[in-house]
Order: sequence, then C-alpha cells, then structure tokens
Amino acid sequence: MAEEKSFKYVILGASVSSGYAAREFINQGLKPGELAIISEESMPPYECPNLAKGYINFETNVTLAKNLVCARNSEKRQFPQWYKDKGIELIVSTEIVKADLAAKRLVSSAGKIFKYQTLLVATGSTCIRLSEFGIQDADAKNIFYLRDINDVDQLALTIETNKKRKVVVVGGGYTSFEISAALMVNNHDVTMVFPEPWIMHGLFTAEIASFYEGYYAKKGIKIIKATLASGFSTNLCGEVTEVKLEDGRTLEADIVIVGIGGRSMTSLFKGQVEEEKGGIKTDGFFRTSVPDVYAIGDVATFPMKLYGDMRRVEHVDHACKSAEQAVKAIKAVEEGKSIQEYDYIHFFHSRAFDLSWQFYGDNVGESVLFGDNDPKSPKPKFGTYWVKYGKVVGAFLEGGVEEENKAIARVARTQPSVGSLEVLSNIGELLIGSRVNRNRVLVSCPV
Ligand SMILES: Cc1cc2nc3c(=O)[nH]c(=O)nc-3n(C[C@H](O)[C@H](O)[C@H](O)COP(=O)(O)OP(=O)(O)OC[C@H]3O[C@@H](n4cnc5c(N)ncnc54)[C@H](O)[C@@H]3O)c2cc1C
Repeated sequence: MAEEKSFKYVILGASVSSGYAAREFINQGLKPGELAIISEESMPPYECPNLAKGYINFETNVTLAKNLVCARNSEKRQFPQWYKDKGIELIVSTEIVKADLAAKRLVSSAGKIFKYQTLLVATGSTCIRLSEFGIQDADAKNIFYLRDINDVDQLALTIETNKKRKVVVVGGGYTSFEISAALMVNNHDVTMVFPEPWIMHGLFTAEIASFYEGYYAKKGIKIIKATLASGFSTNLCGEVTEVKLEDGRTLEADIVIVGIGGRSMTSLFKGQVEEEKGGIKTDGFFRTSVPDVYAIGDVATFPMKLYGDMRRVEHVDHACKSAEQAVKAIKAVEEGKSIQEYDYIHFFHSRAFDLSWQFYGDNVGESVLFGDNDPKSPKPKFGTYWVKYGKVVGAFLEGGVEEENKAIARVARTQPSVGSLEVLSNIGELLIGSRVNRNRVLVSCPV
C-alpha cells in the first residue's frame, strides 16, 4: 500500500514564490499541519537571483543560509526551523511525477501520494538547453546551465578545484549579464557570445546596451555579438575545450555557461488545465481553470491589468507578489471576503560590478535617453523613458538612489502624457541632475 499524506494546502515547488506563499499563509493565520511544501530540491525555499550574483562571487563569501527566503531581511529569513516552528511540512528531495487534478492528488517518483484540498503550483521554469537544437557535444563536461543551487555549486566546485580560467558565456540575457560580471570579479578570462545585436536585447535599447558593453569591455570582458554557438570541441576526458561559432570562429574554453532562456514547467498538468503563452492560465487571483488549483511565479500566465493583456513573467518580484496575492485570495474565498485583482507592473533590477539599475513598466514604443551613459565617465548615471501613444509607459535608471528609483516607478505606474521626447529628456535630466521638485515634475509631467 502506497504511503499517503493529506494536507489542506500543498505548494508544489520550493523556491522563491513558495517561500513567500508560506510566509503569507502564516500572516493569514495558518494552523500547524495544514501546509506542506513539496520540492525535488533538497533545500528550503531560497532566492534564485543571488545565484548569479553574490553566491558565485567567492570574495563576498555568500552562503546558502544568506540566500534563504527572505534574503533581503535577515530577521525574516526562513531557516528550516522556521517551517518546523510554524507547523509547515517541508517535503524536500521529492520529485512529483504525476498530478491528478481531478482526484486532487500528486504522486512522487518514489510512489508516495500527497492529497490536498488546495494546490499552489509553483514549479517555476527550466533552462532551454543547446542539445535541444541538436548542437554537437552540447552536453560535454564543464558546460553549465544555471537554474538551481546544485548547478551553481557544481560550477563553483569546478572553478575551485580545477582553477579553470577561460570561461565562455553563451547568451546575452539577464543571467549571462550577471554571471559574466561575477566571474570577472573572480579573475576569470570571460568572453560573452550571443546572436543579438546588443546585450540584454529584450530589455535594453541600443544606447543603454552601449554603456554596459563599454563598461564590461573596460573591466576586461570580451563580447562577441551577432553569432551563435554552433558546436563544441572536447578532450579525451569529454571536457569542453572550444566553442565553435556559426561565423567560423572558435573560442578556447575551460568552462562554458549557457543562458539562452527558460520555459515554464507545465508538463505535469498538460491536458488538465488551460494554458496560454507557454504558462498556466490564471485570473487576477491566480486561480487556474481547475477549481482549487492556483499557479504562481514563473509558471503563471496572468492578466496584466495595466496593459490589458496576458503575460508570463520570469522575475523574482512577481514571484513574491503573485504568491502573496494567491494566498490572500485563497483565504478571502474561505472567509467569504473579496480582495482586489492583481495589478502588477514589471519591475526588473540588477547589480553587476559597482553598477545597479532598475526598470519599471513596459519597454515598448519610442525611447529617449537622458544623463551620462559614457562608460568612461567617473560617475556615469543615466536613464531612459519609453513612450507609446503619447504616454510614458516605461522607465529605466542606472545608478539611481532610492528616491529617484521610486520616482521612475511612479512615472511608469501613472503613465503621464508627454508632448515631445525632447521635453521628456529634459525632465529626465532634472530627475538625476537636480533634487529640486523632481518628484513633482515627474509625477505630474507637465508637457
Ligand atoms: C541564476 C538565476 C538568476 C536570476 N536572476 C534574477 C534577477 O536578478 N532578477 C529577477 O527578477 N529574477 C531573476 N531570476 C528569475 C527568478 O529567480 C525567478 O523568476 C523565480 O525564481 C521564479 O520563482 P518560482 O517560485 O516561480 O520558480 P523557481 O524559482 O523556478 O522554483 C521552482 C521550484 O519547483 C521545483 N519543481 C519543479 N518541478 C517539480 C516537480 N515535478 N516536483 C518537485 N519539485 C518541482 C523546482 O525544483 C524548484 O525548486 C533568476 C533566475 C536564475 C535561475
């Protein structure tokens, strides 16, 4: 007879969103024994974004404990004891291989059965792999993908034990942007290679990218654009030695890190729940098409109220906020109350070297740059606004202080009308050049 356990609530997945969902359950008055978190990983929920930043930077000596949810506030850090004290069962190293949403049960690879009244799907996303495109030797030794702490621990071990130095980073997105800087800080010889015309092509404009590319070059990172990794060479031990590029060039490599995008982990639920845009479709309360099943974080495609469309967002801020919203919605249903629909605005941020940027809103329409984006400047500081149908819809700022970042967030949220890009550029200059009246100027945007 298979082992069977029943819970009022089950969260499937133990990373960012599940950690914040657990905290919100506690805030809402969870009783001991009601909640279980099931994950194939062996860790309690931790903050993935640190993996490509402080965690891999050996100088900062960041340990897993410092990465646990909520890493930003040490008093709120959720160690395994926290879950124990709250009566939350952490069921780790347990892969769920079957989900029967009609029968409200999950089955693990070891044949254990977990029953629930309400399920929160927090299975996140997985890395797209080069081997999926039939690329030769794409699974050779010392080719890494960064998705979870095991991946990063293995990379760190390879770096430490073999003193490997030549690293090629394949991809020009978020993870590649951050890991390249972290490895450069650790004195590696780093080359980035990607097919797009500039770094972080999905978010940055050419002008924003030219700053970071110039800055990275100043730090010694080599960037090769507009070509693809088309194969690898290996030695007799099966270790990677070379990256072959589509344009015929080859790059020596002891280590390769691949960051070419992710895809949401929906396979367990195929055919049982509605999907949209590659994720599990939800409403503004993260309810799926199946009663008592919610989806949160990277796996959810939800209505973005501000833009009137459905989106899937692979970012930590949304992972935290969607988790809190779903738990509030669950409790509201139980108590016969109502809550507001999710009203999210994109918020992305990053740190690399001594740089730090924030972005709010949508990067669509025309854009205008303001400030000093010369990578050789002693103190570069600049921003960009995006304008669509005469309204400011997105805002980016490098090097902003808290107050300035809050100001651009308000602009992206309130979407002020704008007469001309030139005036908007001047307003941007005012934001970062003068402290006088900048919030008033930005929020009312008198143009
Ligand atoms: C290296 C890296 C750097 C990042 N940097 C940033 C950043 O700087 N800023 C930013 O905004 N975002 C960043 N992100 C993205 C951010 O971390 C994700 O958006 C966030 O982690 C999503 O949280 P989640 O809870 O939805 O899913 P995940 O964090 O992906 O967690 C999903 C969990 O579910 C488990 N799971 C999946 N399937 C099963 C199964 N069948 N059985 C059991 N368990 C299962 C997984 O093992 C995992 O533990 C980064 C991500 C990575 C990997």
